[in-house]
Amino acid sequence: MSYKMFVNGEFVDSVSKETYEIHNPANGSVVGTVARGKVEDAKAAIDFAYEALNRDKKQTTATNISRILQVTSDLVRRNETELATLMTLEQGKTLMESRGEIKFFAHTLEYYAGLKARGSQIRISDTSKIALVQKEPIGVVAGIVPWNNPILLMGAKVASALAAGNSIVIKPASSTPLSSLKTGELFSKAGLPKGMLNFITGSGDTVGEELVTNPKTRKVSFTGETATGKRIMQLAASQVKRVTLELGGSNPIIVADDADLDAAVNATINGRFRNAGQGCMCVKRTYVFESIIPKFMEKLRESANAIKIGDGMNPTTTMGPVHSRSQLEKVSKQVRESVEGGAKLVTGGRQPEQADLKNGFFYLPTLVTGTNENSPLIAEECFGPALPIVAVNSMDEAIERANDSIYGLGASVWTKDLGRAKKAAMELQAGTVLINSLYGAGGWEIEVPMGGFKQSGIGREYGIEGLEAYTETKTIIMGA
Ligand code: NDP
Repeated sequence: MSYKMFVNGEFVDSVSKETYEIHNPANGSVVGTVARGKVEDAKAAIDFAYEALNRDKKQTTATNISRILQVTSDLVRRNETELATLMTLEQGKTLMESRGEIKFFAHTLEYYAGLKARGSQIRISDTSKIALVQKEPIGVVAGIVPWNNPILLMGAKVASALAAGNSIVIKPASSTPLSSLKTGELFSKAGLPKGMLNFITGSGDTVGEELVTNPKTRKVSFTGETATGKRIMQLAASQVKRVTLELGGSNPIIVADDADLDAAVNATINGRFRNAGQGCMCVKRTYVFESIIPKFMEKLRESANAIKIGDGMNPTTTMGPVHSRSQLEKVSKQVRESVEGGAKLVTGGRQPEQADLKNGFFYLPTLVTGTNENSPLIAEECFGPALPIVAVNSMDEAIERANDSIYGLGASVWTKDLGRAKKAAMELQAGTVLINSLYGAGGWEIEVPMGGFKQSGIGREYGIEGLEAYTETKTIIMGA
């Protein structure tokens, strides 16, 4: 099937008429072809988004947008199977994970349908004047999305940008545009005015950079690798554009000697291996108190080996392939080099041998002990199903090691001791600290802000903070 870009409320070819293929990571088959957008296509979409803001203001009142987001949410729920299937075929995750992501998207739309940007009135010293703080839309927003959670991450940008009164142009990742494009149809059906939401497919260095540098886009909301985020920040700086950057992470999990071991093992397995380890909020480093290491490792290994790897469309599969050949090579290299540097492979560390998996990018759930701070599995972000486990002797040591990273996206702690839990919550350098708690469905909770300390990003998405990030603050002082 061939897919077109969604611009000004219509599905269109790219100006060049070029297309490219989307491949299924589980077996290499062609899922569909899609328009290859270029700079001219991005420019046109931005122009339409710009015009949409000024066309008919009655259509884009907060109440009208709120109603449209709610109706779209209902349509998304009704189309869950089709959207989830498309996502599994293009991305590789299990159908259950895709369904979870679609539900999360529907909930995001619903949540922002109920939120309105609010200003305030402040009494100033000069009592003859009225001072108002007004929240206004920023204008045209550029949203750039990675391939690991194509709909969930797109949803946060679209719902909050529209709810705050902006228009938006989304560039999905080149390899996962299909499910996002399908949602364009649902927004249209729900009555979203033309041009308020556009999807441009094409590469990051052409379409992506046009979205960042075009003078008509006033904000860039980017999710992806830290290196790309740095480039985007540089490009955006020349026009002092607003940026929200949701970047890489290397989330630590700390398991103390008084933790509920089964729950901690479950959190580690779920946190590391869902979506084949390809989540910004995935657990990527494990710090376990030395005295419980033998028991912890026994349970962890057993649970890792019980993961059923396979095609995401197969209902018995619990972990799909990694997304691409380059991801497979990156993870394999990080494991190989960590082991060459002295670490010990506990399980996995290779591709499975089953004949039916030979055309896919499969990698076995992998556990590694004996890493040091220079091991790639510790020093770099590992975006795949491999986990280093490090022994520590105290909460102080665990926190120190956990903080020894350029990243600061999330962290989790398992202990029954309130004092230890509080210490970890206060001292861990992360945008989110989970205590005795699993990551929410899809990896996150919509109602609370998410974002990174250090090189994990700038700004927050989700929650009320996520809405505010799409507004400008204007102070109005009225005299007589
Ligand atoms: P990339 O940074 O490679 O790509 C992300 C998006 O940016 C893609 O749409 C890509 O396009 C586009 N892009 C690439 N180069 C440019 C450029 N020069 N200008 C504008 N756009 C560009 O990230 P990945 O797709 O590899 O995603 C994985 C990363 O995302 C991980 O590091 C992960 O931790 C992070 N992430 C962070 C989250 C958070 O909330 N903090 C959430 C989820 C993921 P194309 O596909 O065409 O290359």
